[in-house]
Amino acid sequence: MSVFSHSRIETYETCPKKYEFCYVIKAPRGPDGIEAFMGSRVHDALEWLYGEVKMCRLPDEEDVAERFRSAWDAEWKDDVRIVRVGRSAEDYLAVGEKAVRAYYRRYHPFDQATTVGLELRVRLALDDDHEIAGFVDRLDKVADGVWEIHDYKTSASLPTQAEADASRQLALYELAIRQMYPEVREVSLVWHYVVHDCEVRSSRTPQQLADLRAQVLEGVEHIEAQRSFPTKTSSLCDWCEYRPICPAWRHLFETEALPEDARAGEPGVVLVDEYLRVSDEMAALKTRQDELKEVIASRATADGVDRLFGTDGSIKIFRYVSAGLPDPKDPARAELESELRAMGLWDRFTQLSTFSLSRALSDGLLDAADVERLEPFITRCEGVKLYPRRSR
Ligand code: SF4
Repeated sequence: MSVFSHSRIETYETCPKKYEFCYVIKAPRGPDGIEAFMGSRVHDALEWLYGEVKMCRLPDEEDVAERFRSAWDAEWKDDVRIVRVGRSAEDYLAVGEKAVRAYYRRYHPFDQATTVGLELRVRLALDDDHEIAGFVDRLDKVADGVWEIHDYKTSASLPTQAEADASRQLALYELAIRQMYPEVREVSLVWHYVVHDCEVRSSRTPQQLADLRAQVLEGVEHIEAQRSFPTKTSSLCDWCEYRPICPAWRHLFETEALPEDARAGEPGVVLVDEYLRVSDEMAALKTRQDELKEVIASRATADGVDRLFGTDGSIKIFRYVSAGLPDPKDPARAELESELRAMGLWDRFTQLSTFSLSRALSDGLLDAADVERLEPFITRCEGVKLYPRRSR
């Protein structure tokens, strides 16, 4: 039985290499970022609050704020990473405490529902071989058969309603809850964006849940079939716990650890510096070439000639008018295609997109059976591309 979680699937979607580090190789994780640390402390405080309420005790706002601060101090480690420039641990401590206090004031006296579970472990069998597991922050019963799945978020961004309606995590938990508690009739999905003092709600139809289940099963089977896990760099790399060992960043960490003079002579640094210099020179040459092209065309027009001669050669000036047609995103494209079909010209002017097909093959987007049928036509060759980028 393969056990997946929402965060495991999300990690793969964010970056296959991170997935490999975390779930395949199980490489040691680097220290947490402060955002994750703050999120855990907010979860701790709210879990404690509802645990007390469940025991018929009602802590006051100061108790909850104190619980948050003391958990912060107890769990704090000096290697917690602060990525955002100009921010300090105290800033995040203040944001977290403010969020906890705002939450307290919004829901006090916490009698909106009966809490069924806190940090409740849920499991959803997708089929005989695959399972989704996760933890529900809080499961509430509002009335007989009417339940709510609550999730605390400490992210700085707030989702739109459309994003909440398409969100996967709580919908998966709903499937699990319905499997575990057949008496449940209605389920609301509730996110608490505590930093924004904001509640976001959504619900799913039976058809949406069935579709989600099928998509997730397909997704986990796809992940299981992978044998290579490429890096997928993005702004999220700044928060990735595996950055020092990631092939996309390891050289940076290794060279930053060198003394400045040794760094300048490190073979990789020397090669990159030269490549960037050559790229700049080529870009400048290309700009000059484009300028000359304009001037030469004007000169030839002014002189009434279509060829200009230099000492070592000549340039022919060829003027043309190209016909533009709607691209695939243009609504007129469908009309053009149907017109071509009606004219009997479709086969003559449309071709197989080998680029799209080879991309689909490379990205593993085709079924294994389809790949096998195409195998006799596929030639594989290795190549290298370089994507130079200047440091900011
Ligand atoms: S640092 Fe970026 S590319 Fe590397 S594993 Fe992490 S998310 Fe992926």
